[in-house]
Amino acid sequence: MRPATQAIHAAAPAREIGAPVTPPLVAATSFHTGPDAIGFSANDLGAAAPMFYTRWGNPTVALLEQRLAALEGGEAALAFASGMAAAAGLLLHRLAPGSHLLLSDVCYAGVAEFAQETLARYGVAVTTVDMSDPAAVAAAMRPETRLLHVETPANPILKLADIATLADIAHAGGAELSVDSTMATPIATQPLALGADWVVHSLTKYACGHGDALGGAVIGRATGIEALRKEAVIHLGGAISPFAAWLILRGLETLPARMALHEANARVVAGYLEGHPRIRRVYWPGLASHPHHALARRQMRNFSGMVGFVAEDDRNLARQLAARLKVWTYAVSLGKAQSLLFHIPTEDVLRASFKLEGEAAQAYRDWTGEGTFRLSVGLEDPQDLVEDLAQALA
Ligand SMILES: *Cc1c(COP(=O)(O)O)cnc(C)c1O
Repeated sequence: MRPATQAIHAAAPAREIGAPVTPPLVAATSFHTGPDAIGFSANDLGAAAPMFYTRWGNPTVALLEQRLAALEGGEAALAFASGMAAAAGLLLHRLAPGSHLLLSDVCYAGVAEFAQETLARYGVAVTTVDMSDPAAVAAAMRPETRLLHVETPANPILKLADIATLADIAHAGGAELSVDSTMATPIATQPLALGADWVVHSLTKYACGHGDALGGAVIGRATGIEALRKEAVIHLGGAISPFAAWLILRGLETLPARMALHEANARVVAGYLEGHPRIRRVYWPGLASHPHHALARRQMRNFSGMVGFVAEDDRNLARQLAARLKVWTYAVSLGKAQSLLFHIPTEDVLRASFKLEGEAAQAYRDWTGEGTFRLSVGLEDPQDLVEDLAQALA
């Protein structure tokens, strides 16, 4: 099946007479079990174990996991309560005291903060590197490097990284590559096919698509996912609620259609912003002016709906936009039907989240100026989106 069909049909339950046509929401925490069916420990969990307790597995959650695995072309998937639970669970599972994590210098703020504050406290060495510069990545590898974690496109500045090249560098050094593909979605990019070992998603974003459920996932090899389930979901406990899984399953059905529209609307908005006299730079992977446009054309089948721009007097402009916009919403998050806009001041995020100094901090400033506006282009009529920006920017 192709993606648009998989999003609706992959892993669907058997078509028995009387069975529901849409995915059932199984709102149960435990399941009938006999004395010999399964042991009490997470260590007794095998691939063939029956449903037991919802933190271990649940039919609604299992369907979401199987559908995500199909869309990513992976052997297995594991759902989490949020994207942060997924990323933190994977990092804790793959790293140990004395091992080294090579992290993208720009990535989701929560992941950057968790790695540099919490993992470091547990004895994991964490260094950051510009993942769009393969020579710098190769030079930053250490004998004890176990994992490279990258986002492409990277939140919030939409830098890209070459997954196939990074996978080669990681594997040559005996490490693994994990790719946070939240912004690309499996409709644009399938990191596993390019050599990545793990794919991480915040399902809260495009996968859900409606901004009404938190969720996360990791997709990878079946044996790795089974070990991750024991440690990162059963023991750390960040299991997704069946209702959130059901909402995300419903969102996934329209993911391929929505991504086509997000991309088309983003093309209109990015093109408009690029010609606006108040705006200095616009970042969208589909623009020929994007520094990584050639890589985007190779690696992304869809340029997604995230647009960034840099403008003069950005703090005042942020206030003006928040006060005047009527169709766009000034709020965080991304990937939903409503268009969202948010301003991220450069010095704040460098200090509080990325902790970059010297050349790395300067490279970030060169990209974002004093601050960057992050736009999640939604599904409204693109003419209304442009007219609203025009009146608010005037
Ligand atoms: C939102 C986001 C996360 C965190 O996901 P939550 O579901 O909010 O916990 C991680 N990575 C990226 C790229 C994100 O955009």
